[in-house]
Formats: sequence, structure tokens, C-alpha cells
Amino acid sequence: MIIDIKKLKQSGKDECSFHFETVLDSDVITLPGAEFSSPTSVTGVLTLSGKNAYLSGEIAYSLKAQCSRCLSEFIYEGVVPFDEEFSENPQSDETYKFSKGLVDLTEMVREKLIISMPQAVLCNEDCKGICPGCGVNLNETQCKCNKE
Ligand SMILES: [Zn+2]
Ligand SMILES: [Zn+2]
Repeated sequence: MIIDIKKLKQSGKDECSFHFETVLDSDVITLPGAEFSSPTSVTGVLTLSGKNAYLSGEIAYSLKAQCSRCLSEFIYEGVVPFDEEFSENPQSDETYKFSKGLVDLTEMVREKLIISMPQAVLCNEDCKGICPGCGVNLNETQCKCNKE
């Protein structure tokens, strides 16, 4: 996930759009038991201003995850927006560093995912979960535990 700013400048532009499909290491997954179900997509626009580059866009990922209420497996789709500054001489921790005219998005994407990934997910907001009495998945089966 590298954007060559030198080439962009040579072409006389100060803006470009980008799109990457990337397979990230699973150590960015903070959701217990989950794994990536497809490559992560990173889409956005880079704008040059002075010596710095501003990148905004979004990261879209999908995980094979387990519902924390009913324990069934499902695909969780997450989207993380970003709006970040890159500099060859960062003045603060908020700014990412790049060098040799090459902006590498990998670290930023990894950090955004680690920060934003949920600790628990539901297959559906209305997931009925598992019956504490008999253990059936209440989304699939209606049990008689609560009926006297
Ligand atoms: Zn569920
Ligand atoms: Zn039951």
C-alpha cells in the first residue's frame, strides 16, 4: 500500500485517488476468535499541501466472526473512515511519517483497525441469543422454557 508522491508531482498534479486490496496480518484482529474472510479494501484521496500529504477515505474489512449472543458464525462487515496527515518531518504524534517520497499506508491502516475493531459483535441487532434454560439458539428454535 504505497503511493509514490514523486510521480504525482512529476505529472503536475497535487491530488490522486487510490484503492488497495490487501491481506493484513491477523494480529490486527482484536475481536476474539475472528479471522479475515476476504482482503481488506482501502479507498480514498491523497492531497498534497506544501511538503505534507493528506489522506482521507475508508477502510472496509470483513471478518468471519462469532456472534457473542447466540455463538453462530457470520460475516461481520466493518468500515473505518480515516483522515490523516503524512509528513517527512512529523511535528507531532498525530502525523504519520513518510520518506523518499513514498507514502506507505500499512501502519496507518493497521492502527485504525486495532483502535476501531469491536470487542464483541452480534449477528443481528435483534439476535435472541441462546436460551439459558435449554441451550437452543432462539433465533432458530422456539423453546418452552419461559412458558408455564
Ligand atoms: Zn446471534
Ligand atoms: Zn429453552
